[in-house]
Amino acid sequence: MRVERTIDSLRGALRDARGSGRTIGFVPTMGALHDGHLSLVRAARLAAGIVVVSIFVNPLQFGEHEDLAAYPRDEDADVAKLEAAGVDVVFVPSVTEMYPEDRATVVDVPPLAAVFEGASRPGHFAGVATVVTKLLNVVAPDFAFFGQKDAQQLAVVRRLVADLSIPVEIRACPTVREPDGLALSSRNAYLDPDERRRAPGLFEGLREGERVLREEGNVDSVEKTMLEVIRARGIEPDYATVVRPDDFRDFDGHGPALLVAAARVGTTRLIDNLLLEDVSGSLED
Ligand code: AMP
Repeated sequence: MRVERTIDSLRGALRDARGSGRTIGFVPTMGALHDGHLSLVRAARLAAGIVVVSIFVNPLQFGEHEDLAAYPRDEDADVAKLEAAGVDVVFVPSVTEMYPEDRATVVDVPPLAAVFEGASRPGHFAGVATVVTKLLNVVAPDFAFFGQKDAQQLAVVRRLVADLSIPVEIRACPTVREPDGLALSSRNAYLDPDERRRAPGLFEGLREGERVLREEGNVDSVEKTMLEVIRARGIEPDYATVVRPDDFRDFDGHGPALLVAAARVGTTRLIDNLLLEDVSGSLED
């Protein structure tokens, strides 16, 4: 496995692979790797001849008062996990390699960036869109793998890839969870034991929401139920609702539905979602 730190050296490393006709699968990450990340790596390994993983804690997607400085970092452990997972190339650029001082271009997807996670975290999705666009340009993969866990990020990425005609196939991978339902996240490391015990309430809320949507077909009841369950588990919801997975507008009863929720557990903000492919016609008239 090669570890590359510059754009030029990464491109050099991939040139031969591309020349030999092998496809490239790419998994962008911010490190602190867990089984959720490794499930994306496994999907890439199955799909592509060469697997590239990036580790870059992207400052552009952190707000001023967010956890950029505290974000967990452990490059040695990450590299060991990726080696064991059969990754071919790890790209670990510095901030100055990715963002020279005179950089001025921002990629933004305003309609998606203004709602839900974007509303809570101004500038977050422009940071995500900018880094993903750059990484896709640098790696030029055939396939790129993203977790359903970050559903709004996935929608932003699909939108920008379509709008900018970036020649890559975006593949979404299911959310990997702890046995009690808590979605794996690097930020779970911030939870103290009592918070960790309460945190699965977020997913419980989503599952109850699914039951109510299927049984009653009423979005207001779904929201009310999800908020009640989340609060009853001792965590403070930020939002819990039903949207269309591609643009995060209100679910109107047609096509797939996405139950989305965010909540604060102590000082840690957690997000989760549940994608329901088959609820067409489920809303009451
Ligand atoms: P991050 O390092 O948090 O930027 O995440 C890198 C990628 O891993 C993103 O595409 C995430 O959606 C994905 N990911 C994070 N947590 C999970 C999880 N629990 N299950 C599946 N994918 C995940």
